[in-house]
Amino acid sequence: MEKLYEEDDLLALSGIQHFAFCERQWGLIHVESQWVENVKTVEGKNMHKRVDDPYFTETRGDVKIVRSVPLMSKTLGLYGVADVIEIQQHDDNFGIVNYSIVEYKRGKPKADDRDQVQLCAQALCLEEMLAITINYGYLFYGETKHRYRVEFNNCLRTRVQELAQRMHLLFEKGQTPPAVYNKKCKNCSLFDICVPELSKVNKRTQKYLSRVFDDMRIE
Ligand code: SF4
Repeated sequence: MEKLYEEDDLLALSGIQHFAFCERQWGLIHVESQWVENVKTVEGKNMHKRVDDPYFTETRGDVKIVRSVPLMSKTLGLYGVADVIEIQQHDDNFGIVNYSIVEYKRGKPKADDRDQVQLCAQALCLEEMLAITINYGYLFYGETKHRYRVEFNNCLRTRVQELAQRMHLLFEKGQTPPAVYNKKCKNCSLFDICVPELSKVNKRTQKYLSRVFDDMRIE
């Protein structure tokens, strides 16, 4: 039988985007509660403030727009908030209702899939809460002022499930993964806290020490 998480054990859904970007970044924020504001994070917050207007609903044509919708999935073990849910009722289609989900982001589309992962995690929560299927959603980017459709295919759904499982595994162990210095680090808001260059130094030091110990054993 599928494992269901207790409400007390749910993790913040917003963390899955950090986890998809870098497991250590997620660990620093969500296991060690470290965070630094920079221009990007402040702009992102301001953008969300504009859509975070709880209880606000609006109707445009046959689409009802609901903002700041609380989300939860006991299967994924996640809770969070959806920026916008659009509900469309097709009068000519036996009253079938279509749900889509919209997440607002500053900047422009990224090279990796962290935003798609977060959006799909939101959709999986809503599916579980309402016992519905959501086939796609949208990412709106402030810099391009355009929204991009994201299909929730099996590949993306599986990735979300695997990431959520691993987040819980590391959270239960209280483990922040070690730094792996790579090209993503220069765009990371936690660079100064993480100090990823030290991982290279540490590796060199470990190699040096293990050589010294090996030599001592031979003598
Ligand atoms: S600086 Fe690099 S290793 Fe450290 S948290 Fe950021 S992306 Fe991850």
